[in-house]
Amino acid sequence: MREQIDQAALEELRRDFKGQILLPSDPAYNDARQIYNGMIDRRPAIIAQCNEVEDVVQAVLFGRKHDLEIAVRSGGHSVEGWGLTDGGIVIDMRKMNSVRVDPVARIAYVGGGATWRDVDSACQPHDLATTGGTISTTGVAGITLGGGWGYLARKLGLACDNLISVELVTADGSIVVTSEEDNPELFWALHGGGGNFGVATSFTFRLHHLPATTLALLVFSPTEGPNVIRRFRDVIERSAPDELSGEISYMTGPPEDPVPPELVNQLCLFLELFYVGPEDEMRKFINPLMELEPEGVMISELPYADIQSAFDMEPGLRNYWTAQPLEVLSDEAVELFCKRAYDMIVPSNSIQVLSSWGGAIARQDDKWPMGNRKSAWLVYSFGQWTDPADDKRGIAWANALCSDMIPHATEGTYLNLITNEGRERIIAGYGRQDKYKRLARVKAKYDPHNVFHMNHNIRPD
Ligand SMILES: Cc1cc2nc3c(=O)[nH]c(=O)nc-3n(C[C@H](O)[C@H](O)[C@H](O)COP(=O)(O)OP(=O)(O)OC[C@H]3O[C@@H](n4cnc5c(N)ncnc54)[C@H](O)[C@@H]3O)c2cc1C
Repeated sequence: MREQIDQAALEELRRDFKGQILLPSDPAYNDARQIYNGMIDRRPAIIAQCNEVEDVVQAVLFGRKHDLEIAVRSGGHSVEGWGLTDGGIVIDMRKMNSVRVDPVARIAYVGGGATWRDVDSACQPHDLATTGGTISTTGVAGITLGGGWGYLARKLGLACDNLISVELVTADGSIVVTSEEDNPELFWALHGGGGNFGVATSFTFRLHHLPATTLALLVFSPTEGPNVIRRFRDVIERSAPDELSGEISYMTGPPEDPVPPELVNQLCLFLELFYVGPEDEMRKFINPLMELEPEGVMISELPYADIQSAFDMEPGLRNYWTAQPLEVLSDEAVELFCKRAYDMIVPSNSIQVLSSWGGAIARQDDKWPMGNRKSAWLVYSFGQWTDPADDKRGIAWANALCSDMIPHATEGTYLNLITNEGRERIIAGYGRQDKYKRLARVKAKYDPHNVFHMNHNIRPD
């Protein structure tokens, strides 16, 4: 049926469509279907690169009329490749990436296809920011609709917590504006419910004044793991303000500062600390970690937008990840975490991460669907490698890490950082059955036929 979309129908779509319609025969088609995860190789029948809201409306209605599976793509970083369909239509939002900042009202108006780089670079000249992901290439839409953890989250809440409003094209082609005042139930659902309810064409975010930010990188030998992690835990849990957050990662040491030559291309332990404030203030809080005498140190006060892009990674590697939140980080969980690092593929771009949550993330636990906010820690295995022959090993390590954590974990998960792991895990992402049921009722109202199902799917109630 896909091949039988007749020329007349395509011509009709092209007539009013302001963006670009790409077919498999077009020279730009292959580039346009590349996403972050190099394991995913799907060939849509049509890629509709939208320029404006009306293009999105047309693409949704065209997909439905011709019974094409609809995938919505922004940053393209979904590990499952949910922004890409085989044989269907991709609604490609990347050209709708404008960002306008009102520095007086401290508000950003963000296109539905923007990346965090677009947002951060528009906000930085005003010393303003809002929580985004920890790199700059991810899509605002995918991250925010799934919650949105990043360096600023302990201080300012998740990305979704800073939403003022969202404009959406729903399954029947309507343009709907949602906020706490307009369509509040749909607005509620967009705080963690992902792309289930329609195509987000624009977001309005609350911005915050951020005059100084500091990044610290401490590098240790992997054998120091238990010692360093226990100290990191104690600093975060006992003395750190919400301004301080961090991630501790096992990874292959890259050939750059501050990695000492003996750890280059070897498994090493990285402590990445982020502080909302100047360097001298940060040093006071991280002193107990400095006392552990890291083998490499870099501490620098940098613009937030620079920190956001400091760890950008190349797309196209083979990816597999999963995640497990922890309420308490026991010594036993620390030991298991460290032991599992020795199963990683080294050298590779894989990272085994323990991330500090808490602070403002935990303070809105019941308000929105995004669950498990009381978890103080998040463990995730972020597998990235080049050789398909490593798939089995990489996936086994990633899953084993999170299985190790189960006895110490909450029953939940963080949906943005897991693959397609079944319905129970999706429900677990909301922490409570009643939140999932409420989402299912919103889904039934706005997308009763489950048109938008390329996501952690909520079945219409
Ligand atoms: C390198 C890397 C770093 C990451 N870092 C973080 C991080 O720091 N914090 C964090 O929370 N997560 C992080 N993630 C995970 C990330 O949140 C998810 O992969 C997210 O889904 C990516 O969104 P996207 O727009 O880039 O992806 P896409 O693949 O384009 O989309 C992801 C999902 O959102 C839907 N979607 C996309 N655009 C729209 C839209 N306009 N309207 C409605 N639905 C839409 C898609 O259909 C799909 O279901 C990271 C992922 C990678 C690969």
